[in-house]
Amino acid sequence: MDKEWLKVFSWNAIETVLLDMDGTLLDKYFDDYFWEHLMPEEYAKKYNLNISEAKQQLLSRYKQEEGKLTWTDLDYWSKEFDIDIPALKEQVNHLIAVHPNVEDFLQFLRKENKGIYLVTNAHYKTLDIKLKKTEIGKYFDSVICAFDIGLPKEESAFWGKLAGLLNFRKENTMLIDDNEDVLLSARDYGIKYLILKARPSSRGGIRTSEHFPAISYFKELFNKN
Ligand SMILES: [Mg+2]
Repeated sequence: MDKEWLKVFSWNAIETVLLDMDGTLLDKYFDDYFWEHLMPEEYAKKYNLNISEAKQQLLSRYKQEEGKLTWTDLDYWSKEFDIDIPALKEQVNHLIAVHPNVEDFLQFLRKENKGIYLVTNAHYKTLDIKLKKTEIGKYFDSVICAFDIGLPKEESAFWGKLAGLLNFRKENTMLIDDNEDVLLSARDYGIKYLILKARPSSRGGIRTSEHFPAISYFKELFNKN
């Protein structure tokens, strides 16, 4: 499908909506702040480094795990760095925030009787902290994390396993995610309606995509019939 479908599609064609959490429904500023500022501070303190050394070491470790399940595995990183990461996240949980129009969009989907699923690479402990803080968990038929499937969303095989679990039909399914690699893997599997959330962080820029239609805010989706 070309990118123009977003202007003309009908919600009647959609049965199931799969939604990413970080950067899509929730402001990615929290995650960026945590991994790029708070972690380097803690790490520098613990290992007697200056901040730029700490940043450099952490970034190169993060990079090695990118696109893998370990990337979001808080237990893995806690052990790796000998820092209690869930406890550290709790300290800054006031920064966890829902993007504009998200609750209206979720209520709209409920009213339209769509199947609504939160599908995230986030670790159970991150999910707990975020759903407790934002209270959006009540809108979902179910919450699936990549650790349940055993693969990250960047792997095409993830989507076949997910379909087996949720029984969705790929030709009637929409996925919204701020990660283009995830959308590409979902496209390989055959999910038909794919949308890039183009503004993951309230303090970052707007992304564009060659392959997928993009939205900055959810109100662009639910004002149509
Ligand atoms: Mg995301």
